[in-house]
Amino acid sequence: MASSNSAPLKSCAICNKDASLRCAGCAEGVDISGSPTMTWYCSKACQTAHWSTHKIECKDTSYRKHFYRAGDLLQQCFHLFSRKFWNHTWSSWERDENNRLYGWMHGPDTGEDEKLYDFPEECDTLSDREKHAVLATQKGPAALLAFHQLVKAVLKGSCTNVEEIMVDAKQHAVVVWNTKKVDGEPLEKPGDVPETHQLYRVTLKDSNVYALDLTSAQFGIPPVMPFDRYQAAVVHRFVSGRAFGRCITYIQDGCQTRAMFALVCHKEIVDEDFRFDSRMMYYEEMIGRVRKRGGTMGARELKSSNAEHQRTQEEFLQRFAAGLEMELTELKAQGGFAGDAARRAKVM
Ligand SMILES: [Zn+2]
Ligand SMILES: [Zn+2]
Repeated sequence: MASSNSAPLKSCAICNKDASLRCAGCAEGVDISGSPTMTWYCSKACQTAHWSTHKIECKDTSYRKHFYRAGDLLQQCFHLFSRKFWNHTWSSWERDENNRLYGWMHGPDTGEDEKLYDFPEECDTLSDREKHAVLATQKGPAALLAFHQLVKAVLKGSCTNVEEIMVDAKQHAVVVWNTKKVDGEPLEKPGDVPETHQLYRVTLKDSNVYALDLTSAQFGIPPVMPFDRYQAAVVHRFVSGRAFGRCITYIQDGCQTRAMFALVCHKEIVDEDFRFDSRMMYYEEMIGRVRKRGGTMGARELKSSNAEHQRTQEEFLQRFAAGLEMELTELKAQGGFAGDAARRAKVM
């Protein structure tokens, strides 16, 4: 409870005297923008006197602590997933005069299983910031479809609403993604087309609205931001709220329809669209299994002291990584995504 000798003097929230007692309810909490905030008192008497006015802010501070920590945890889980189940084939890297990184691809989702799963070695020479940006680029749909159950489980207790939304984003800040070059010219020039981007919009119990973007590393911003600031930083114009909630249903329905068609026609070759859709279904189910096996990281752990939180988070991430590894081994043994798609087509 007492401050250390080297810490700057705190002043009491009631009487402004030097303070050494802090409110345990909102200890190590954060304000709306995620900066640390604490409430200090000179005495038990001042703390008691302050409680009737402080209690709402006290709770809000702890909801935000929960949420900002959850955002960080979920993004780390997402990077682990993206690294393990890598599904892009970069052909080359370039930097422009502003040191922005350009990744050229043969095209996403080529369906060539042998090229999947492994984060390319050349990416390991990038800085951590760029590496995370690369892991996040073009992964918005996977971040929403695969993680929406885990997101809701981890946020439980701190928010009143979680929506999956789709927006127009400005030009990527760190990595620019492009398909193919034709005669040295890009097929689509960066900036020609608005990037459609997917994220969660969360209404916290502090009544503020926040952006939770698991793929935010590509913009060089943190995973959690107040929504208006996020909008200023990334979003060009709003496209549609809640669109992704429907998209999840669509992908499942779409997958089922095509799978039924394949079954009725005794069609053996599973088409590329179906492979893409069924991979999203695989991701969603797989993250669900990893979550069930790995136990939870809930409000209690996310609101605990910094040291306790650090420990439980590390343990959770280790279990999560081990779960992904187990799933990947299993998937490879069963014929990769092609095998999984074929099995789904048979079952449906
Ligand atoms: Zn006081
Ligand atoms: Zn408090």
